[in-house]
Amino acid sequence: MFVAKNIVELKKTLPLYVNLIAVSKTKPVEMIMQAYESDQRDFGENYVQELVDKHNLLPKDICWHFIGHLQSNKVKYIAPFVHLIHGVDSIKLLKEINKQGEKNKRVLDCLLQVYIAREESKFGFDNNEISDLVESGLLETLEYVCVKGLMGMASNVDNEEIVTGEFKDLADFFKWLKAKETDNFVMNYLSCGMSGDYKLAIKAGSNMLRIGSTIFGKRIYE
Ligand SMILES: *Cc1c(COP(=O)(O)O)cnc(C)c1O
Repeated sequence: MFVAKNIVELKKTLPLYVNLIAVSKTKPVEMIMQAYESDQRDFGENYVQELVDKHNLLPKDICWHFIGHLQSNKVKYIAPFVHLIHGVDSIKLLKEINKQGEKNKRVLDCLLQVYIAREESKFGFDNNEISDLVESGLLETLEYVCVKGLMGMASNVDNEEIVTGEFKDLADFFKWLKAKETDNFVMNYLSCGMSGDYKLAIKAGSNMLRIGSTIFGKRIYE
């Protein structure tokens, strides 16, 4: 039952306003159930097929967060049930999410991924692209999308100053965007902070953590 214990211990250290997403990727449903029995309801997964399988097997009151890189052609598989899509990183993806939301008659909540790390320039918008998106008026036409905030990943380095600086930049941008809120663009959630850096993320202003290995133990990839 180490999962239950880890969750309880972790939660004791978190401010009440912080939303904890338990990242269960690669972990079996039995371990997810241990967390569930400790009242954890928000879980995060990175792979579409794995998320769909786990959703089918597990209690229906779980809120599933998709936290990985989402390909447009796979939105349809998670649209019927997903709670929040972190990591939306292109206009094309936003449009597809809208289309699948319409098909399923549900507004799909999303976070825009902001590219904050100095390394690994892989996914995410930069700040200018997000301001352009907000100014463009495109979001008003996407009735089945609701942007609920931002998601970011700091550089994977030991240097606390670098990581804190990246989180602070993200938090500043998040605050700045509050002045631009509309009906389907609201800055409620700042999703940043993982096992290795969540304490720094909270200090910088995060209110949503995505934590895997601290809860479930190290992942073993085949
Ligand atoms: C795997 C993953 C996490 C959790 O990582 P840990 O270091 O195990 O806490 C958080 N966010 C994303 C996007 C991930 O892929």
